[in-house]
Amino acid sequence: MTNPCELYANWDDLVGTDEAFEGVADLARDLLDHWGFNQVEITLEDLDDESCVYDIINEKIIFDPDELTASGRDNAFDCAIHETIHAAQDQSGVDLGGFGPEFEAQLLAGSLASELLAGCTSEEVPESGSGGNLPNNPWQSIP
Ligand SMILES: [Zn+2]
Repeated sequence: MTNPCELYANWDDLVGTDEAFEGVADLARDLLDHWGFNQVEITLEDLDDESCVYDIINEKIIFDPDELTASGRDNAFDCAIHETIHAAQDQSGVDLGGFGPEFEAQLLAGSLASELLAGCTSEEVPESGSGGNLPNNPWQSIP
């Protein structure tokens, strides 16, 4: 599994390399695993005007290589978490065509990113339990 703190801290050095893509892809995989969902394919492909998408038809997460490089670490993390939420929604039987799931993903991605990076410092790799912890399944408390 990836260390989110390390990935975030070193993003500017990794950006443009396979490691940056592998890092955010691993983050998505770790979240799916942690939340108890199935893994999905994660690929790097040119997208028209988005940094990343969840492809409903093929059930995969796609990152755009140029956008991943250009848009900065906050956007890259937000993308990974946002599309992972869509994958989880899809596996939960949610109809992704509506506005509700998109609103939920936008709302949750920001708070999950803050939770994920809480306790991270830019200089140190954290001890376990002090930053970089995967946030819990956000739907656990929903009856
Ligand atoms: Zn979305």
